[in-house]
Amino acid sequence: MTKPSSSTHPVINLGDWDPSQFEKHGQKLLQLIREHFETIHELPVTTNISPKELFDLLDSPIPEKPRSFESTLDETWEKIIPHLTHWNHPSFHAYFSISASFPGILADLLISSLNVNAMVWKAAPAASALESVILRWLAEMVGYDPFGDGVLLNGASLATFYALAAARDQQSDLNVRTQGLTGRYIPRLRIYTSDQAHSSIEKAAIALGVGTENVVKISSDEQYRLIPDKLEEAIQLDLDLGFRPMAVVATVGTTATGSTDPVSSISEICKRYDTWLHIDAAYGGFWNLVPEIRTDAEDLQKGDSVVVNPHKCLYTPLEVTALFCHHRGALANSFRLVPEYLRTVKEDGSVDFMDFSLQLGRSFRALKLWWVIRSFGREGLAKRLGESVRLARWLAAQATSHPDFACSATSPFALVCLRYVPYSIQTVWERVTLEQRAVLRDYLDRLNAELLARLNQSGTAFASHAVIRDGYVIRISIGNIHTTEDDIKQLWDTLQKLALEVSKDIPIPSLDNL
Ligand SMILES: *Cc1c(COP(=O)(O)O)cnc(C)c1O
Repeated sequence: MTKPSSSTHPVINLGDWDPSQFEKHGQKLLQLIREHFETIHELPVTTNISPKELFDLLDSPIPEKPRSFESTLDETWEKIIPHLTHWNHPSFHAYFSISASFPGILADLLISSLNVNAMVWKAAPAASALESVILRWLAEMVGYDPFGDGVLLNGASLATFYALAAARDQQSDLNVRTQGLTGRYIPRLRIYTSDQAHSSIEKAAIALGVGTENVVKISSDEQYRLIPDKLEEAIQLDLDLGFRPMAVVATVGTTATGSTDPVSSISEICKRYDTWLHIDAAYGGFWNLVPEIRTDAEDLQKGDSVVVNPHKCLYTPLEVTALFCHHRGALANSFRLVPEYLRTVKEDGSVDFMDFSLQLGRSFRALKLWWVIRSFGREGLAKRLGESVRLARWLAAQATSHPDFACSATSPFALVCLRYVPYSIQTVWERVTLEQRAVLRDYLDRLNAELLARLNQSGTAFASHAVIRDGYVIRISIGNIHTTEDDIKQLWDTLQKLALEVSKDIPIPSLDNL
């Protein structure tokens, strides 16, 4: 490199920051992150800002000239952070409560620093080896055969798509992999799952060319578990019509209520009809670490494929999901372009993880799991999950014993569905007509929706809802690593206080004029 000789040319730094500058900014950022966590309780969990206000705040022309990193940090804390929904807040209970724990956060920094692409062994030897080790650890933790295939992916939805692709290609006489689905006769391929299953199954059916009409929703029982007899009936009916059962998807930890399908009975049916069983344990899988609720642990073992989400329940930052499959080579056979004889897992144990999914470039996800699992240990992870379960049971017990609340569905996991049902309504319920009950149900739905809206507007907590058989329920997921008993007690106090306000503002409909 020759240096610019003429002083008329200003020296422009075309490279990156100097490493010492990186360290200086990094230290500042770490300090801000520390302060963020130290004061997180003062931060509203979510924001009420409108989309228009947000765009006004953030939309700007492309910066032509460099800006100082100090100003970028300032604006991040001024314009971005106050207008987020804080998933890492201890009072975030919506959807599924997740946490990026500190070792996981630091690991993400190193992952980016190394910027390893774990596509083939040679491109990332230690990353690929560590991925194999971590997959074995995770399989063992959730009670799955650690010697099948596995891969770390970016989410459970894609994992289910890949598993169902492998299930489709298991129908080897159809040659879908090579001939596709179009321009020839193919029997209707059918996927069975419960009416409580996650939307990712229908999305997979769309992408796989199976179609949403071929996702057969099997009724669930009063505890929101798939009814095996109904599954068998549906399969038999389809066979009579000349349709082809492709896969059954059982759920361990459903989205609305955290229920678990009877995997053993479902697995018997799958064996009888030679149908692939995929288990969506995205939420439920890691609770198997908690000794008190390890009831269905052996059941995961029955899946031809299983998905679990460390980014949900294992204190690891987004995005990391594990997909396991008993059938060696089945995942790779769906996605590898080179022939089978170039085996994905070679004699020397080396693996080319790009062969297990559609993704070629892949980040070094295994590292963050390694850091998190090492930092807390299996025992520490189990105890933390157990504590979330304890808090959830406490909350459920409060609601059950309170005259104005009901606990609508019980999950063994740390998920509580509450419904505000003023005592005055409970007392008249048995005496009113069916039409009057319908009116009261609508009223209770409105009451609970308003209660949730006010809770979320308060900024003190953020929860979501589900519509289940009882109607609209407030759904509280507990699982953040920073959530304490105090947080849950405060949440319960706030819910009771807001419930009184809401019932004053929305009066009970008069039943007389029915
Ligand atoms: C969260 C969840 C999913 C989707 O997971 P992503 O990682 O967000 O794609 C699928 N199924 C169940 C049961 C879930 O709880």
